[in-house]
Amino acid sequence: MKRIRNIKVKNVFQLSPNMKRITFCSEDLYDFPENEDGGYVKLLFKKKASNDSLSRPYTIRSFRKKKLELDIDFSNHIGNQGFATKWASHAKIGDEILISGPGLKKPINENSDWFFFVGDMTALPAIACFLERIPKSSIGFVVLEIISKDDKIKLVKPKNIKIKWVVKSKQNPSVLENTVKKINWLNGKPFVWVACEFNQMQNLRNFFQKNKQISKHEMYISSYWKLGLDQEEHKLVKKDDSVRWDSN
Ligand SMILES: Cc1cc2nc3c(=O)[nH]c(=O)nc-3n(C[C@H](O)[C@H](O)[C@H](O)COP(=O)(O)OP(=O)(O)OC[C@H]3O[C@@H](n4cnc5c(N)ncnc54)[C@H](O)[C@@H]3O)c2cc1C
Repeated sequence: MKRIRNIKVKNVFQLSPNMKRITFCSEDLYDFPENEDGGYVKLLFKKKASNDSLSRPYTIRSFRKKKLELDIDFSNHIGNQGFATKWASHAKIGDEILISGPGLKKPINENSDWFFFVGDMTALPAIACFLERIPKSSIGFVVLEIISKDDKIKLVKPKNIKIKWVVKSKQNPSVLENTVKKINWLNGKPFVWVACEFNQMQNLRNFFQKNKQISKHEMYISSYWKLGLDQEEHKLVKKDDSVRWDSN
């Protein structure tokens, strides 16, 4: 992780009922690298009554170098909220926060025959960045799981990338995985990009690897959070899982 910067809220905009865009601005961003949209920074928090700091990864939705403005889209949690979500839900113009990064950006393979993007609302900012960047002639699918039907937002994308929005509910907890499994597979080799909750990620990884014979090198698959665990606990589980996956 690179140096730490202090950034200030310039604007808060409700993109949808469960997604808020916060625009930050700071002279400290003068040397923030361009072309990192879709990569991530870490928001830094101090634990009360201790010196421990906590970090929460968030996608760089957009960085405008000339204006020194950085956009981050925060999704809401249903139920238990952590430091970052609470902070974002109360954020107002002038509030300050520390960030570190940007972290190392994982490339997407633009030479694949087609794309398959899958994610929940935490992955929506990254998927939105990729859709804006991939060639206009790209084909493929996006399956996005949202919290409510009104969380559907307009995405700039190639004409032949089809988006399927699905709404998660208690009655339909596996809707993301089930929808992915029903998508008609296209000819040629896809590049698969997945980010979502940890257990969903494992199910999808099994599906892509075992049912569709997609190798590790033909996909980026990551958990962005884990139900019932905070980001520190999730990071430990994720590390352990990735060591086991790498040794497969
Ligand atoms: C590379 C990367 C990029 C990311 N980019 C974004 C982004 O652009 N926008 C975004 O909204 N999120 C993004 N995330 C996810 C975000 O970092 C996590 O959701 C994070 O845990 C939120 O921190 P918190 O302090 O609010 O909750 P934590 O303190 O980490 O967790 C508190 C509780 O909330 C639960 N929880 C955490 N996230 C969710 C969730 N999404 N839905 C329901 N319950 C949840 C946990 O299971 C836990 O019980 C990204 C994650 C990664 C790894």
